[in-house]
Amino acid sequence: MIKKTGLYIHIPFCVRKCNYCAFLSFDAETSPRKEYTDALVNEITYRGEQLGHPEIDTVYVGGGTPSVLDISQMRDIMHAVCKSFRVKEGAEITIEANPATLGRKDGVMLAKLQAYRFMGFNRLSMGVQAMDNDRLHYMGRLHTAENVVRDMELIRRKGFDNVNLDLMFSIPGETTEDALSDLERILGLDPEHISCYSLQIEEGTPFGDMAEAGELTEVPDEEDRRTYHEICRVLREAGYEHYEISNFAKPGFRSRHNSLYWDMSDYIGVGLGASGFTDGRRYKNISDIEAYIEAFAKLPEEGGRIEIPLEEDHLNSSFDNISEAVFTGLRRSEGISYEEALDAYMRCAEGPMHEDPQAAFWRIFAEAKEEAEDYVRRGLLIIDDKGLKLTEQGIDISNQIMSLFV
Ligand code: SF4
Repeated sequence: MIKKTGLYIHIPFCVRKCNYCAFLSFDAETSPRKEYTDALVNEITYRGEQLGHPEIDTVYVGGGTPSVLDISQMRDIMHAVCKSFRVKEGAEITIEANPATLGRKDGVMLAKLQAYRFMGFNRLSMGVQAMDNDRLHYMGRLHTAENVVRDMELIRRKGFDNVNLDLMFSIPGETTEDALSDLERILGLDPEHISCYSLQIEEGTPFGDMAEAGELTEVPDEEDRRTYHEICRVLREAGYEHYEISNFAKPGFRSRHNSLYWDMSDYIGVGLGASGFTDGRRYKNISDIEAYIEAFAKLPEEGGRIEIPLEEDHLNSSFDNISEAVFTGLRRSEGISYEEALDAYMRCAEGPMHEDPQAAFWRIFAEAKEEAEDYVRRGLLIIDDKGLKLTEQGIDISNQIMSLFV
């Protein structure tokens, strides 16, 4: 199976922290954006060189809010990418943006979008989250539903024909009907791709504190699941393929970058706290912004080395590989085939395997078989002679089912 390679670039700045957010991001106004960009350019250059300037199929600039960077900063980053990696012809190149962060006036915004097009971006992912101004305000989002509509119009005017919109549901106080009304408004914008996530209350966030103080009531699980299945139904009827637990796309518009994560392909992560998976090794960059800037303040002399500061560094065993392949593969609508799972296993195994993939799979997961078959009887999992996949009901307890293979 031909595996692809992606590049993920993390921009850890936001205009303001949302009330539910536990992502790695800092205040854009007071953070050292220039120093960070310079360090990031150095990391891209260094990693590209260390890896022998590999070919890459996708680039994804995420955050945080990448659109808060100046045009010249983003240009420096993309210039470093093109110099350090061989970006394949037709690569998918995505930038994340939040509504109302591309510029206050239409002219400024159009100039930024135009610059993104020149830099090679051909996909834009926008964090819409809701289309009701009260809910947006409650979540601490900066934008309004009107901003989303205006931004989308300008994004289309600049020729972006591959746009993802993120929608959140189970926002405290929200009903299934509220979520569906947001979805209807999002569908009215006709995006090629929609990601839908239920809001999680995380410790250490304003919502987490409110929940602890009894000032916030989470949406009950039953309503959360009802909303999810209704969203799946509406999107299916609107012609979107439900290709991953939280992701829906018009035919031909699945996210190629995110698909790399679910099929055990290599991806190189650069930037603060970014994760990567290359040559069977999982790593995570440090999350301390000052230490990061210091580590990549300058490039070494020719032939010299930088000790890349990592928070995690793990060489996968063949069992890690097959276990992760099943865990991530089950997120996809097509599930995981025995062949693909074994392919992941063999990448770290010593010597060839002459066993039939199905037999080898169940030998490796012998202990999971009885419970897996019980999930099949309950209509939550499908097992056939190609592999296994979750049913739509099985998605409700996906973590439980996936954990059988860990
Ligand atoms: S815009 Fe996204 S990354 Fe930034 S604070 Fe809000 S949720 Fe977090």
